Amino acid sequence: MSTRTSNERGIRPGKRESTMRGAVLYGAGDLRFEEHDAPTIIKPTDAIIRIAATCVCGSDLWPYRGLQPIAEPTPMGHEYCGVVEEVGSAVRTLKPGQFVIGSFFASDNTCPHCRAGYQSSCQQREFVGGAQAPMLRVPLADGTLVATPEVPPDDLIPSLLALSDVMGTGWFAADAANVKPGATVAVVGDGAVGLLGILSAKLMGAERIIAMSRHEHRQKLAREFGATDIVIERGDEGVARIKDMTDGVGADSVLECVGTQESMKQAIHSVRPGGSVGYVGVPHGVELSGQELFYAHVHLHGGPAPVRRSLPDLINQVWERSISPGRVFDLTLPLDQVAEAYRAMDERRAIKTLLRP
Ligand SMILES: [Zn+2]
Repeated sequence: MSTRTSNERGIRPGKRESTMRGAVLYGAGDLRFEEHDAPTIIKPTDAIIRIAATCVCGSDLWPYRGLQPIAEPTPMGHEYCGVVEEVGSAVRTLKPGQFVIGSFFASDNTCPHCRAGYQSSCQQREFVGGAQAPMLRVPLADGTLVATPEVPPDDLIPSLLALSDVMGTGWFAADAANVKPGATVAVVGDGAVGLLGILSAKLMGAERIIAMSRHEHRQKLAREFGATDIVIERGDEGVARIKDMTDGVGADSVLECVGTQESMKQAIHSVRPGGSVGYVGVPHGVELSGQELFYAHVHLHGGPAPVRRSLPDLINQVWERSISPGRVFDLTLPLDQVAEAYRAMDERRAIKTLLRP
């Protein structure tokens, strides 16, 4: 079964198991929960954390569906929170026993790009992978990980985990779309990121938030997070509905949370001249015409979210229980059922699946 029993014996640093069972993707639809080496400190700036909870990302589904080829069997998962187990000799601000959350990109948090708030473009950035496992190595631990005030109560863990990617990404979509108090905002995409983009737009003071969704279950959550209107139409029809609802003007800000040609076009066409599109869906097959962009008069900003920028503030808000981004997890499974977690999301039976080692 899982490694849970031995983990709970409180193994000291250096006395851990040398192997563990985690999720490894072999190819389209072939996700295995299998034994591989447990991570160890490689660089003195690393930390090893014991995962409290992890989850499946919408972006994990691209390679799972065979739409993004993988070169070799790949340990999966990049959303994580947990307890520091061991730190390298150069780590100064963290110590074993602290509960931490970090981003899918490790960052030093000191270089010029980090200081400008773009930690996901850090000059030293490293992708953090293999989080769908009991243990995880996090590079650049001082810059990457943010500790909570104390070890959280169990019911806060889903919302803290959400900050590791999905909430930070929804937040960046709203930030990049320049959402201002009183604004009219449209959100393209009703996946977990889109839903948390709604929550983020609400936090930034948007007055009207139009969710584009045709799934009843997701519409309900959208309204809970702050959506004031729902548009079920897509493509040109969806754009026409947004225009109708804004006296022909278009939305001030549009959050693009899908990453397809259709969703990107829908976002660009829904925004008013001078408005902004924040795009965070990883683009697959998106091509934009220079002519069209030239005449659209829109601000386009997006990319991999600098999650590290929003972590301290969002941790505070979760800690004070003023937001519950963990509401997007509508399925929780033990880690050893990770293959089912992928299937449930692939088949859209779940918005987002939380996994507990
Ligand atoms: Zn940096």
